[in-house]
Amino acid sequence: MRLSGITPSGHPHLGNHLGAVRRWVSDGGPDDLYFVSDLHAMTTSHDPSRLRARTSEMLAVLVASGIPAERVFVQSDLARELGALTWVLECTCSYGEAARMIQFKEKGRGQAGVRLSLLTYPVLMAADILLQGAEEVPVGLDQNQHVELARALSRRFNGTYGEVFTVPRAVLPLTGARVRDLTDPTRKMSKSARDAAGVVFVLDEPDLVRRKVRRAVTDGCADVVYAPDERPGVANLLEILAGCRGGRPADLAAGFTSYGALKEAVADAVVETLRPVRERTVELLADPGELARIRAEGAARAAERGEHRLTSAMRLIGAGAPAGGRRA
Ligand code: ATP
Ligand code: MG
Repeated sequence: MRLSGITPSGHPHLGNHLGAVRRWVSDGGPDDLYFVSDLHAMTTSHDPSRLRARTSEMLAVLVASGIPAERVFVQSDLARELGALTWVLECTCSYGEAARMIQFKEKGRGQAGVRLSLLTYPVLMAADILLQGAEEVPVGLDQNQHVELARALSRRFNGTYGEVFTVPRAVLPLTGARVRDLTDPTRKMSKSARDAAGVVFVLDEPDLVRRKVRRAVTDGCADVVYAPDERPGVANLLEILAGCRGGRPADLAAGFTSYGALKEAVADAVVETLRPVRERTVELLADPGELARIRAEGAARAAERGEHRLTSAMRLIGAGAPAGGRRA
């Protein structure tokens, strides 16, 4: 079973769709789980109402994209279970191990008022993984070290107190092409980009998508060729077109004699690819009762799936009511 999280650090975009979510739908296993990792969006300065809105939006987009509702949950709905397990795992983890995390060193370095959670979130991530009993965790290189920590903690806990946890391993994510920012093709398209001009969001209206694609940076040359290193802007457009329509970027290039025509084709393809997801997301967001139901069911299922592991871990570490009877 694989567990993948997506942090509501911003609005989901075309890169998330082509590079991740669409693959989860088409190539994911029947037992795989997906969660909106809203607790991980609070390790640096954040706005509560915006986080709440983005969490709902991300959940709606995942379901609208075709991930079965019973495979999805929101992390904070398991805050009690995860909080308890995080504590157990913090008591299994050394300070040095946490402080060695490259993400912590990079994001926390020289910053005033760094949140303690920036240091401890890899332990929460271990709890995410171990609570669900995930065998495989698809992560990019930047998160590999955190999965290694989850591995180390699960092994240590199992060896010290008793076998409870599945030892997870990091696997390569099911990814499509890297989509680059339309206005700066040296960067990848990101939720947390400061400027939205080069980012096509899943929920952008078709007109806005067209405007963004028309303003995409190309280069000074006149002909359309696929040369990722020399002409990253045009290559990005061709890769997006290939991602939406199929085919190979280099072959698609041959069908265009001008950037204008290429951009029109890319805009059409992106609008059509995102249309069903956007429409279904809008429907879901307009029906808070339905979204709340999906969310509550997902939470109940995820909590139930992990309950025996949490109960056993607590008992083995010497906490919680003794086995065989609860406090009268
Ligand atoms: P952030 O800026 O907060 O890091 P992000 O846009 O990079 O957000 P992530 O939450 O880091 O998104 O990644 C979610 C998934 O989307 C991952 O599987 C990641 O590989 C994929 N992904 C993110 N950006 C792109 C992109 N530009 N092209 C293809 N896949 C992407
Ligand atoms: Mg990222």
